[in-house]
Amino acid sequence: MTGKFYITTAIDYPSGKPHLGHAYEKVCADCIARWHRLLGKEVFFLTGTDEHGSKIAKKAKEAGKEPEKFVEEMVVFFRELCEKLNISNNRFIRTTDEDHIKISQDIFKAIHDKGEITLGEYSGWYCSECETFYTEKDLKEGCCPTHGQKAEWLSEESYFFKMSAYAQKVLDYLEKNSSSVLPSGKRKEIINRVKDGLQDLSVSRVNVPWGIPVPINDKHTQYVWMDALINYISGVGVSAGGKGDKLSHFWPVDVHLIGKDILWHHTAIWYSILMAADIPLPKTVFSHGFINTDTGEKMSKSKGTVIDPIALADKYSADVLRYFLLREIPFGQDGNFSEELLTDRLNNELANELGNLVNRTIVMIEKYNKGAVPKGEADKGLQEKLKLEKIKEQMEKLELHHALSEVFAFVSACNQFINEKEPWKMEGEARDNVLYSLADSLRIIAILLQPFIPETSEKINAQLGVKLGSIAACKFNKLKAGTKVKKAEILFKKIG
Ligand SMILES: [Zn+2]
Repeated sequence: MTGKFYITTAIDYPSGKPHLGHAYEKVCADCIARWHRLLGKEVFFLTGTDEHGSKIAKKAKEAGKEPEKFVEEMVVFFRELCEKLNISNNRFIRTTDEDHIKISQDIFKAIHDKGEITLGEYSGWYCSECETFYTEKDLKEGCCPTHGQKAEWLSEESYFFKMSAYAQKVLDYLEKNSSSVLPSGKRKEIINRVKDGLQDLSVSRVNVPWGIPVPINDKHTQYVWMDALINYISGVGVSAGGKGDKLSHFWPVDVHLIGKDILWHHTAIWYSILMAADIPLPKTVFSHGFINTDTGEKMSKSKGTVIDPIALADKYSADVLRYFLLREIPFGQDGNFSEELLTDRLNNELANELGNLVNRTIVMIEKYNKGAVPKGEADKGLQEKLKLEKIKEQMEKLELHHALSEVFAFVSACNQFINEKEPWKMEGEARDNVLYSLADSLRIIAILLQPFIPETSEKINAQLGVKLGSIAACKFNKLKAGTKVKKAEILFKKIG
């Protein structure tokens, strides 16, 4: 093992079934986690569900169920999504897990004992949909800026966290660490907002029984952000002071992958809580974009444009969906989805380029060399077409879409190599070298594609008769001559 790597997704609010946005975030995080495993690192990948709060309680009531029972049933869909898409998370955390509840309470108490959480009264415009208080200025004609529903004026007893005291420290961290927030434009946005100062934060509720009880006053439950955000440390057993169990060496986290709508909570609020609890800050918070319809509109339930990712994976396969999401949407920006766009990529790239290359290579080795990889040497010109260092840099900078298209540029180069060499017109050593070059290249392609489309990578390896290698094995002339290849079903069927 050379080093460690810890990545998280946001935890999902299971008030409804998962949509394409949930799938997208998990697939991206999975790709990054798998890449770091291939680099030989010890990886911990955390995803899960955020299960408390008044909105869940309301949904449960509508369904005629207790909240415990309601979330139990809803969580099944989110676990199913992970399985369906081959998400390689090490833990699926639920904010109703006992260890999470314990650590959330310990953090609350530790900050309270320092005198930085105190009892007060909160009044403000409250949106029950996002469980957030807004200022007059934030509201749009009296409605929530995110949900558009009428905000209500609320006044109640509440504990407050002295977040205002952390504004300068939060600002310093953001300014000193250029990769604290990515993409960099987002970091500038947050810096500008923090420069206006931070408000003290209401961290408890008296009228939301479905939550984690405040350890020093059981009339209160902990406000959603003092509960949900804590999952990132409780997931690896880290508590106040940065102390923890056998997984705690994973903290600080390398990447928090989140949607752009919750970047503020994952920087200003989360940093302040961690500082108050004497815990080191995250290395990078990466804000990804949203997936819109092919006309660039927000997907919405009322317009019937919400996509069920599980049905989509059933129809096309997990890898086709993964490939589309990772290739089509520039990581860090918004992108569009339609089945037509997905089918185009399936036909033109997965079937025509990758599927064809695998098929042609295996068929020729069977035909010309009785199904065994011939002794040979990888073509120098072809070797130069693989930009491995560039791909590594792109993955390091989390430019997943660029890295994937670079791997596919090499796939195209291999197809072109076949067309130019015309091995069917060759014989002897010259032909052996061409076949060897192709098989050896495919071995490397299968490694580089594994983080993106793991099932396909496995299928290529099975046809090539090799086991998955690591990034260190992405060197040419490593494939053993005599390796038995085995033709199988074509990798991708085109859709007309
Ligand atoms: Zn709202």
